[in-house]
Amino acid sequence: MRSVEALEMIYRPWLLRITRRLARGEELRVNLAQILEQFYNALMQAVETGDPAWLDPILNEWVKAYTETEISSHELSLLTILGQIHLTTIDVAREILAEADALSLISLAAPAFVYAFETAARLEMERTIERISWDLEKANASLQRLDKSKSNFISVAAHELKTPLTLIEGYAAMLRDQLPAGAEYDQARIILKGMNNGTRRLREIIDDMIDVSLIDNNLLSLNFQPVWINRLIDLLHKELARSLEERRQILEIHPFESWAEMTFGDSERLYQAFRNVLLNSIKYTPDGGKITISGRQLPGFMEIIIADTGIGIDPEDHLRIFDKFGNLGDVSLHSSGKTKYKGGGPGLGLSITKGIIEAHGGSIWVESPGYDEIKCPGSTFHILLPLRKTPPDDRTAKLFAPLYNTENLPGAP
Ligand code: ADP
Repeated sequence: MRSVEALEMIYRPWLLRITRRLARGEELRVNLAQILEQFYNALMQAVETGDPAWLDPILNEWVKAYTETEISSHELSLLTILGQIHLTTIDVAREILAEADALSLISLAAPAFVYAFETAARLEMERTIERISWDLEKANASLQRLDKSKSNFISVAAHELKTPLTLIEGYAAMLRDQLPAGAEYDQARIILKGMNNGTRRLREIIDDMIDVSLIDNNLLSLNFQPVWINRLIDLLHKELARSLEERRQILEIHPFESWAEMTFGDSERLYQAFRNVLLNSIKYTPDGGKITISGRQLPGFMEIIIADTGIGIDPEDHLRIFDKFGNLGDVSLHSSGKTKYKGGGPGLGLSITKGIIEAHGGSIWVESPGYDEIKCPGSTFHILLPLRKTPPDDRTAKLFAPLYNTENLPGAP
């Protein structure tokens, strides 16, 4: 018997059996019967011509028609359905046809079924990947929206807080000025000093919030001028001398080539960037620890390296600490101290530093074997800064011409 005749012969019982096996509700059964009929026709063509590609349109349509729930539910996966169809074909052929005819039909249909399995697996995989990418895109878009509203909130909150803070600072200053001299007012002076410390710290936090929102919105503008990194570090050393002494820490500075060379940059912003890194080194290094500043010259760049003997940072956090609010510690343990051991903070310092360094065309990264408060493996921050020998614009060129035109540019003070 010809295979097509055999297929025609088993069609009705096959359809009845497979529809019962697959369908749950009556409605689905009607739909399914139509789809199965199409599949069977394609199967007959494939078997007769020996070209399994006849199955492509129905398989494609099938995969497309699936809803997301159907795809994720294993029961209704296309491969499961094809498996059932294949088994039913074998069962019904064996029951209805003579043994030789059944065997011949089963072996002739086998390549078409193998092809159908392969194609269905590929199509289902493609569709699943498509769905996952779509889900990822959606999640990404909502993360971006969330980040935008976080950034808007920071900006609005910072500006709203600034006005009342200015009022408090102003009235506290008036009070201080009007306070008569004399020992009986010492207590009031101590209170005012406390208020002053508090408002100064609050202003620093608000300024950090404003800087973060400027960086987030690409609004950080740099005032380029001649900068000497050695001078910045020297100033910083002087500013932090007291904190270093309090924490019994040593700051070692190893000058390097290009250390004393002039480069164009925003000195205030660079100072702020180095200060943030150094303050962290002090903060996350136990009393008696050591901080080392060194560096090297690279073609067109200088690399400044700030290493400490502190608690270190887990490799999986090496990128996260540069995100805003990327602080790793327990927020409830935060103290307001800028240099107190493990003092914690709002988690804005390094994200501002990264923004400043990147606005200069540089980059910053950290190396640390891991976090260990007992062994203190330390952290090493690398700052790569382009060496700009020429002013970035005409205005800067005119302003600083006498400085950068001279043959012997001023070096260390
Ligand atoms: P914070 O205000 O919390 O110090 P930063 O943005 O300056 O915020 O730093 C983010 C986090 O990176 C810190 O909370 C700390 O966990 C970690 N970190 C930064 N510098 C160091 C360092 N030198 N050693 C160990 N951990 C550090």
